[in-house]
Amino acid sequence: MTSALQTASSVEADIRLAEKMFIGGEWVAATSGRTLPVYDPADGRVVVEVSASDASDVDRAVAAARAAFAPGGSWRSLTPQARGRLIWRLADLIEENAERLAALDSIDSGKPINEMRYFDIPFSVDVLRYYAGWTTKITGETIPISYPASHGGRFHAYTLKEPVGVVAAIVPWNLPLLMAVKKLAPALATGCTIVLKPAEQTPISIALLAQLTVEAGIPAGVVNYVTGFGETAGAALVEHPGVDKVTFTGSVPTGKAIVRAATGNLKRVSLELGGKSPNIVFDDADLDAVIAGAAAAAFATQGESCIAGSRLYVQRGVFDEVVQRLAKHAASITLGRGTDPATQMGPLISAEHRDKVLGYVEIGVSEGAEVVTGGRAPQGESYAGGYFVEPTVIVNARPDSRIMHEEIFGPVVSVVPFDTEEEVLVLANNTRFGLGAGVWTRDVSRAHRMAAAIESGQVWVNCYQAADSALPFGGTKESGWGRETCRESLEEYLETKTVVVSL
Ligand code: NAD
Repeated sequence: MTSALQTASSVEADIRLAEKMFIGGEWVAATSGRTLPVYDPADGRVVVEVSASDASDVDRAVAAARAAFAPGGSWRSLTPQARGRLIWRLADLIEENAERLAALDSIDSGKPINEMRYFDIPFSVDVLRYYAGWTTKITGETIPISYPASHGGRFHAYTLKEPVGVVAAIVPWNLPLLMAVKKLAPALATGCTIVLKPAEQTPISIALLAQLTVEAGIPAGVVNYVTGFGETAGAALVEHPGVDKVTFTGSVPTGKAIVRAATGNLKRVSLELGGKSPNIVFDDADLDAVIAGAAAAAFATQGESCIAGSRLYVQRGVFDEVVQRLAKHAASITLGRGTDPATQMGPLISAEHRDKVLGYVEIGVSEGAEVVTGGRAPQGESYAGGYFVEPTVIVNARPDSRIMHEEIFGPVVSVVPFDTEEEVLVLANNTRFGLGAGVWTRDVSRAHRMAAAIESGQVWVNCYQAADSALPFGGTKESGWGRETCRESLEEYLETKTVVVSL
């Protein structure tokens, strides 16, 4: 009992940390004094009021990041190895404080605490360690040159890889800590400084992350964060002339607005946007693996996942069996408060988002689709005030139905039959998105043919959502620009300078 009370009070203290923003090594409130409420999506109560920053606060944060980036400053003068040690230390601290961080994101976003324990936290730690290793391996090249011919052989030319500068990182609410870390780690590894802006719905864990950067010994001003709305704080960051690069994860419309706003000083932009990912099951697949994989693809993180396998194409021979087994699985998922370890699916992020998701189910039905299971907000005492939606399986959606083309971002999957490989490829690629895709088959040649022909940033064969820090992650078409994690992501945070020396 005592320890439960202590835990509750320490979680409360961690939540209150988020009342202030972290700028230039100081915990500060918004200059205007304005705040915004953060809700617990499991019951709708206000958890904390955080600062609603505006352009003046963003100015302060960018100035702090610029000062820390200045040549000869505490950050730029660190050796790559020293920088790597600090990043590694931050990873250790996240690991040591895993339960605190897991509780915060689970309260804030509603996601099951076990997803935090077994995915978001270990992956965040892994991402930091992966990039910590890169600090000492960022190198330019020497390049033999032939021009001008009259000076042939009398030049020494090489490239330097330099940090792009001050990075603004704007992240969404579905994986608050992990999304922030995926931007923080490469920024630190390349020697940039950063201003983070969490989503207005989920700012809490970023405060503890900021505190851990202090404990890790990362100098003041290198990591800053501001809280607030996208249209104010986010927009001010994107337009700020002191920001050299924006790295954004979020929706397609916001991504497009960011591209337009970034033109002021032509800052570099990388975008991780939405998806409408096809998950394709051939009739020779291992159906036990398919059911578990398709359910996880559709319902993990309440379906609030950019790579959700929301279009499930199933070859006709096994269609009925897959629909029936998937529906049974969906109906057996335990809904509840994210912090309850028994919970398998939490509430959606907000009442507005729940209504949007349920609205899509209605649209699908009005366009001819049928709900096999779910499709409603669950009733009962334990869901009172929360933003829950039952895991939903839909069939008979028309190919042109809005639910087959728009990102629902909730626990809703449409199952569609197909006959041939050629037919399903056309269906799968009939989307403006290109983020994830799954292929389930025992035919190795077909698996590779499909992987080559599907238009998306990643294809999983006989698995779904498999991720690793060393693997490129990102989208084609309207799913984004650039890749995160992996070696090539470093380039997004680097400038290449060419030096030519006359010998
Ligand atoms: P969103 O675009 O509404 O908001 C994301 C962030 O952008 C928030 O911090 C918000 O405050 C900020 N923002 C909003 N308007 C802004 C503006 N005009 N200028 C600057 N910043 C602004 O997205 P969301 O609803 O929070 O997140 C869901 C979306 O994120 C989905 O589309 C999902 O697919 C996508 N997502 C993509 C990935 C990926 O890696 N590709 C990962 C997670 C989520």
